Amino acid sequence: LSPADYIRSHIRTVPHWPAPGVMFRDITPLLANPRVFRVLIDQFVHRYFDVKPAAIAGLDARGFIIGSVVAYELNVGFVPIRKKGKLPFTTVEETYELEYGSATVEMHTDAVKPGDRVVLIDDLIATGGTMMAGKKLLERLGAEVIEGAAIVDLPELGGSNKLRDAGLPLFTLVNFA
Ligand code: 5GP
Repeated sequence: LSPADYIRSHIRTVPHWPAPGVMFRDITPLLANPRVFRVLIDQFVHRYFDVKPAAIAGLDARGFIIGSVVAYELNVGFVPIRKKGKLPFTTVEETYELEYGSATVEMHTDAVKPGDRVVLIDDLIATGGTMMAGKKLLERLGAEVIEGAAIVDLPELGGSNKLRDAGLPLFTLVNFA
C-alpha cells in the first residue's frame, strides 16, 4: 500500500452528514491510529523540511490538528486562523460565501511579518473558500503563501482549480470524486 492509499483507507465516509446528500469525509480514524497518523504527518514534514517556511498557518479546526504537529516537527511557529470571535488581540478578518450564508475567519495582526514564507494547512479542500480566505489574510499582512496543503481534495467541487488559478500551488494526498 502506498502512503496515500494507506491514508485513504483510514478516512471514513459518513453519508448525509451534516446535511442530506453530503458525503462527509471523516478524518478522525486517521488521528486515532498512531501508525497512520505518523505516516500522514511525515508526508507534510518531508514535503516542507528543506523549504524551511517561516511558519505553518492552520485553518480552524482540523487544520490545527495537522498543522501544529507539522510545525513542531519542522521547528517553526504555528499560526491559527480562527473562526470569528475567538482571538483576543487585534485581528484582520475575511468573510466568504458558503452554500447557505457566509463565514468569517480571523488572524492576529502580529502573527506573521511582511516577507514571511508560510505554508497554509487544512484537512480538506471542497469549494476552496476557506483556504482562499486564509491566503487573503496572510497576504494582507505581507506574508507569501508558498503552498496550500491538505489531506483531502474534492476536485469536483472546483476549489482546488480555483485556488491554483488564484496562484496558490497545492499539495494534497488523497482525492475523492
Ligand atoms: P471549503 O471552504 O473548501 O468549501 O470547505 C473546506 C472546509 O470545510 C475545511 O475547513 C474542512 O475542514 C471543512 N469540510 C467541508 N467538507 C468536509 C468533509 O467532507 N470532511 C471534512 N473533514 N471537512 C470538511
